[in-house]
This record gives sequence, C-alpha cells and structure tokens, in this order.
Amino acid sequence: MTALLEVEDLRVAYGKIEAVKGISFSVDAGEVVTLIGTNGAGKTTTLRTLSGLLKPVGGQIKFEGKSLRKIPAHKIVSLGLAHSPEGRHIFPRMTIEENLLLGAFLRKDSAGIAKDVQRAYDLFPILGERRKQAAGTLSGGEQQMLAMGRALMSQPKLLMLDEPSMGLSPIMMQKIMATIAELKAQGTTILLVEQNAQAALALADHGHVMEIGKIVLSGTGQNLLHDESVRKAYLGED
Ligand code: ATP
Repeated sequence: MTALLEVEDLRVAYGKIEAVKGISFSVDAGEVVTLIGTNGAGKTTTLRTLSGLLKPVGGQIKFEGKSLRKIPAHKIVSLGLAHSPEGRHIFPRMTIEENLLLGAFLRKDSAGIAKDVQRAYDLFPILGERRKQAAGTLSGGEQQMLAMGRALMSQPKLLMLDEPSMGLSPIMMQKIMATIAELKAQGTTILLVEQNAQAALALADHGHVMEIGKIVLSGTGQNLLHDESVRKAYLGED
C-alpha cells in the first residue's frame, strides 16, 4: 500500500538559509502523525511547503502517489490537503458561520456544505451558539476551534494542524486535543505540528522529532513518549 503522503529528502530554504535540510517521512490514511521539536526546528516551514505556500529547493512530496511539486497552493486544497495555520488567521469581522463557509469555497454541493457546517457545530458547540457573531469576539481557544472547523469544511483527505494548542489554557488545550482524538476516531488523517510534545505524542500513531531542519528521531507515539532523550529534551524531565 502506498502512503497517503510521502515526503522524501525535502529541502526548503529562505534565501541562503536552509530551514528544512532533507527530511523524509510518510503519513498513511487514518493515521495521526506528529512533528515535534523546539522553536525554529522547521515544522511550520514543512507544513507551508506541503500546502504549496513555499517551494522546495529539493526532494519530493507525493500525495496519493502524485507529485505536488509543480502544483499551486489552491489546487493542492482541491486535491484534499487542508491546513489550519499557526496563529489561526480567521477573519475577525466576518461571522463565525461566514468563516466556516470560506473553508468550503471550492465546493458546490450546498446540501453537503450545510451538513458539514452542522458537523463543525456538533464538534464545537460554542461555534453553533455564536454562529452569527463576529469571529473576532471569540477567545483564542475558540478561534482555534474555528480554524480547525474551517479546515474541515474542504473535506480534506489530510488535515494539517500547526500548533493548535499554542497560547491556550490547559483546559482549552485538553478540549482541542480531545477533538483531534475524536476526528481520528472518525477516520480523519492528521499531520499535527506541536510544541506540546506530551499531548501530541499521546495521541499520535507516529512521531518525528525535528531539530534545526532535520528529523533526529522517529518512532511510534508511545515509543517516543517513553524515550529517555525525548523525555529529557521535550517533556521537561531531568
Ligand atoms: P516555530 O514553532 O517557532 O514556528 P518551527 O519549527 O515551526 O518553529 P519554522 O518556523 O519552520 O520552525 O522555522 C525554521 C527556520 O526558518 C528558523 O530558523 C526560522 O528563523 C527560519 N524562518 C522561518 N520563516 C522565515 C522567513 N520568512 N524568512 C527567513 N527565515 C525564516
């Protein structure tokens, strides 16, 4: 079986600075795969490249066996890759419902769209309760929920989440992680970038530790969670 996403020797640079220095990993359908690592390791750069927002200087990205290298970002969404970016990027003056509908901009099946709006409200009831309010009135955690709900509106085959727990209270973070687990249980394939290694590894099938542009360690979520070097470097243990 070929993987849903295959990344091989991917290299990405900002001018002369190589931010991603030849990484390889894959994501199978139905899996949650996480990239963890400290600030500046290259995690966000990797996701932005998979979305087509940055062009690689080397390597291969294959989605369902087809190369994404020459495909523009808007086409990549239509192939089934959705990206919920770091910092959320919701539209604060538009209503919550309008923000969700933006995620469905490539779709024409209005009955299916309405069903998926309802699915987002089932997943995150607060969004339904406040559907007619400006999105800017939501708290940080609620905006994160909206960004995830919006990404799901494109019915992605692969959902990429960039630091969904960033800046959230512990309770809100737990809620977001529980939702990711629920999405996984529903069969959604997820590539999760997180600085909160503990939470990410606890729900991931596979994980990769990134350090300054390279993958330095890979394993199942459980193996990495119990790995001594990971515990020391990323889980704050002595
Ligand atoms: P963070 O969690 O802080 O976002 P990250 O692992 O996602 O970290 P990246 O944001 O991908 O890391 O950054 C990787 C490297 O690329 C860093 O050294 C960063 O300074 C550099 N970098 C990121 N964006 C740019 C840019 N627009 N121009 C130049 N260098 C950049």
